[in-house]
Amino acid sequence: MEAPLLPGGVIGILGGGQLGRMSALAARRMGYRVRTFDPSPAACAAAVADEHVDADWNDHEALARFAAGCGRVTLEFENIPPATVAFIAKSVPCHPSASVLAICQNRRREKEFLRDSGIPCADFTVVASLAELRGAVVKVGFPCVLKTADFGYDGKGQVKLPDAGADLAAAWATIGGGLGVLEAWVPFQMEISVLVARTVDGRAAVYDPAENVHRNHILHLSLSPARVPEATAAEACALALRIAEKIGLVGLLAVEMFVKDGRIVVNELAPRPHNSGHQTFDAHETSQFEQHVRAVCGLPLGGTRPLAPSAMVNLLGDLWRDGREPDWTRVLADPSAKLHLYDKGRAARGRKMGHVTVTAPTVEEAARRAEAIHAAL
Ligand code: AMP
Repeated sequence: MEAPLLPGGVIGILGGGQLGRMSALAARRMGYRVRTFDPSPAACAAAVADEHVDADWNDHEALARFAAGCGRVTLEFENIPPATVAFIAKSVPCHPSASVLAICQNRRREKEFLRDSGIPCADFTVVASLAELRGAVVKVGFPCVLKTADFGYDGKGQVKLPDAGADLAAAWATIGGGLGVLEAWVPFQMEISVLVARTVDGRAAVYDPAENVHRNHILHLSLSPARVPEATAAEACALALRIAEKIGLVGLLAVEMFVKDGRIVVNELAPRPHNSGHQTFDAHETSQFEQHVRAVCGLPLGGTRPLAPSAMVNLLGDLWRDGREPDWTRVLADPSAKLHLYDKGRAARGRKMGHVTVTAPTVEEAARRAEAIHAAL
């Protein structure tokens, strides 16, 4: 069995985005050294790491240099070639594993994993051609949604097909003609997500569901805890724990779910810290980033209790009107608001530049104050 990696050791993080940055901050606070790897020298995690290696994902010489001296390697986004993780895992324990990654970065494998594990998810059919799509819509029924099998997130690479009048040829062209997954549309009342952490020896900890509100397919607001009945929250947590065990997770996993008539339908898995868990930084016993570090290092897991109801609002590049930095004093004017900026440099439309977390006596009030702060920017 793998020995825990104690503070003072070196953690390698594949990927240098904001999730890597916040994981690095948590790790350094605990006394770990952090090394990041990203194709970009300007990756925002690099600024808070002890060392940064910028090279291509397939550059084995650079990967070997990165891995040398690391006690653990983890990742902060799932679109890393599994071969990269497999290469590193030959010399250093790497969590999550290449096989977890291979499932979570491909919708077909993810859906098949969920279905075969008996986890409730939307009905789906895999389609490899326009002709197959024409047959599949009859089987799945309208409305439905066509998604690329590979590399999709934040609603990219998907087309909703509302009714029999939908232009199937155009939809097929939109997803680029590779392999697709045609999914039944779920008329959900709410989107929630559950974070679960698991260690190599099978200890697990789960956070209460967060309630998520999207705008243009990008997370806008996340409320914690989600306003669902206790039984629904318990079902969501139980499903997340079951998935973590079944997939053989070591590390952190976010499970995105739909709530429909009080029941859960699992939508997507992300084996890393998640945008909908950012409020745990300021509003929970243990942040998802610290929990991520604890889980991959094999330490005891931290408590997951909320300290107060909270709301997290994303700060997208759209707020930088004409390239001007927003007036951050408007955020800090609310004494409970915590400002997190990722130091990404160039602000672009839809780019996640930071977030604000607000705590309040109720979720409703936290949501109202977070929205007011966002509007003031
Ligand atoms: P995804 O990229 O699969 O996470 O989907 C992005 C968003 O599209 C989700 O957060 C939902 O709001 C919506 N969506 C995706 N699949 C479905 C579905 N089968 N039924 C209803 N809404 C969906």
